[in-house]
Amino acid sequence: MTFANIPPVLGDALNARGYAEPTEVQAAVLQPEANGRDLIVSAQTGSGKTVAFGLAMAEEMLGENGRVAHSDTPLALIIAPTRELALQVSRELEWLYGEAGARIATCVGGMDASRERRALRRGAQIVVGTPGRLRDHIERKALDLSTLRTAVLDEADEMLDMGFREDLEAILDMTPDGRRTLLFSATMPKQIVQLARRYQNDALRITT
Ligand code: AMP
Repeated sequence: MTFANIPPVLGDALNARGYAEPTEVQAAVLQPEANGRDLIVSAQTGSGKTVAFGLAMAEEMLGENGRVAHSDTPLALIIAPTRELALQVSRELEWLYGEAGARIATCVGGMDASRERRALRRGAQIVVGTPGRLRDHIERKALDLSTLRTAVLDEADEMLDMGFREDLEAILDMTPDGRRTLLFSATMPKQIVQLARRYQNDALRITT
């Protein structure tokens, strides 16, 4: 199987990277049934899940000209448990969305918050970060989620295990009602199902 039905600008990025075939989780999120839907996906590290949610959010990211829609406030927010994972996600989305014209801001604990605030002020369409730092930026009015179209929870089980539930809920409570929510988790314990029930609508469950 080859990558089909994806926006040309992202297809070019995959080609340039030498990725000719979707991984299992990528094929699953690209099935027509998943179009525009909230997704609850069980996927392990190394499964290609980052590119999977990168592709899944394309419709909400790109304008009619096939490039990232004009916005100085984020269209997509990716929340990850650790600084390392957030940086890794940013690097993947940089090559996937670079040619499409996306600016990406990374907001992680332990890094210089004032630099992050400047990056947010300059305008980013994609924001990637860890729960505590993202919440901090929201509370200081440095991060405006009013234009958000897609929220991604990456390694959601890890985030709950690390005690980020309250931060996650505070962040999601600040996002618009009509947003899409893509939840990725290696395991699906009861707390994840509860979180999904509270923040997702009619989610499609994908198991790989
Ligand atoms: P992840 O599960 O997102 O951490 O991805 C694991 C690794 O697989 C990363 O280095 C990705 O760049 C790579 N990857 C993602 N999609 C593909 C693909 N379709 N073909 C080959 N490698 C991929």
